[in-house]
Amino acid sequence: MTLVGLDDTDSRERGMCTTYVAARLAERLRREGTVERCCLVRLNPAVPYKTRGNAALAVHTDVGPARAFELATEAVAGAAETGDPDTNPGVVVAPGRPESVPDTVAGFSRRAVREEVDPAEARSLADASDYRHEGWKLGRGVVGALAAVGAWRAWQVEAGFDGPTCEVIAYREPERWGTPREVDRDSVFAAAGTEYPSVWDTVDRVEGETVCVPHTPGPVLHGIRGEDPAACRRVSEAIRSEPVERRETFVTNQGTDAHLRDGDLRGVEEARAYRLDGTVASAPETEQGGHVFFDLADGEARLRCAAFEPTKRFRDRVRALRVGDRLTVCGEVSADTLKLEKFAVRGLVTVEPVTPTCPDCGRRMSSAGRGQGYRCRDCGTSAEGKVDRPVERDLEEGWYEVPPVARRHVAKPLVRGGFDAPTHPER
Ligand SMILES: [Zn+2]
Repeated sequence: MTLVGLDDTDSRERGMCTTYVAARLAERLRREGTVERCCLVRLNPAVPYKTRGNAALAVHTDVGPARAFELATEAVAGAAETGDPDTNPGVVVAPGRPESVPDTVAGFSRRAVREEVDPAEARSLADASDYRHEGWKLGRGVVGALAAVGAWRAWQVEAGFDGPTCEVIAYREPERWGTPREVDRDSVFAAAGTEYPSVWDTVDRVEGETVCVPHTPGPVLHGIRGEDPAACRRVSEAIRSEPVERRETFVTNQGTDAHLRDGDLRGVEEARAYRLDGTVASAPETEQGGHVFFDLADGEARLRCAAFEPTKRFRDRVRALRVGDRLTVCGEVSADTLKLEKFAVRGLVTVEPVTPTCPDCGRRMSSAGRGQGYRCRDCGTSAEGKVDRPVERDLEEGWYEVPPVARRHVAKPLVRGGFDAPTHPER
């Protein structure tokens, strides 16, 4: 067996796409042998230099390592948009079974999904493992390529990781790239309904969006995500559209929350994504542009949490929070702000302290002076302090999430299950 890792052939402006290069390479390898699977690995979405979606790819094949390396470097050199200064492609080729990758490489893969790793470390680890590798320009792509090589093993051994998902991607004919996509909306919504919830995030029913169809100028016509490759393929094939040049099935860490680490509000670092417990410490406020912010606290530590405008109706859930609510929040931290992907309500404030009303006349009492409680001037009644009044809440305990239209690739949709509290899935 040979594991071929590829990374960073995406270009923001020119619209190449690493998954397409991998699909083409897989086709080429199938002419000389077999391809066992293609893996699509989403790396840490919080790193500052990320390419669009920050994806790396691995192709598992029985073509020998030397020949596979030749074909892979050819495919990447031909396809990588190296005119774009932000594109730094890399290739790593490893001999052996995907499940026998050494722990060092599996560990590297796991870290590349959760933090920022150094290209020099990737190169020296590839050397130490006797892997063929090549990097173009800054060679940053070797990080993703090596992470892709180790991904399958990482998915098998990582505690708490409940397995990869899949995506079936349909590609456009090259002469249509950059032109508007011809996809029949009704057929997308109909197909999405037939396999839900095994297939998820195909559409956003509230926003009326075909989430599976990208808006970028690249080669992807649509990508269907879910638990089961056969179900994804049925949905993909049921969509009416312009001609599909090719389809490829990827095994992936998308929709798994693989980027999240359990953390503590006192120890958060930039460019990492967390699952954190805390208490709402400031009332949510909507700022210019429709972004909603509040502070979360744990003891003395505070962290600003944000639901940005593109998260749409999720912001109403955030606005419904009150000071004192206990939460678990999930998202990446950058610029000292956690960008909310989902949160769990652990405890809701159900009463608020209010000035007491007079038992005789029913009017609000007034302060009897500092520290002296309240009294009714008309009736002479008094009360020692504020009293609790029940508050109506629009939230329940359990998990809330951004809608499909705002989902990060790697974030786990609630409909997938396995959460530690009731869920309120968006679809
Ligand atoms: Zn009164």
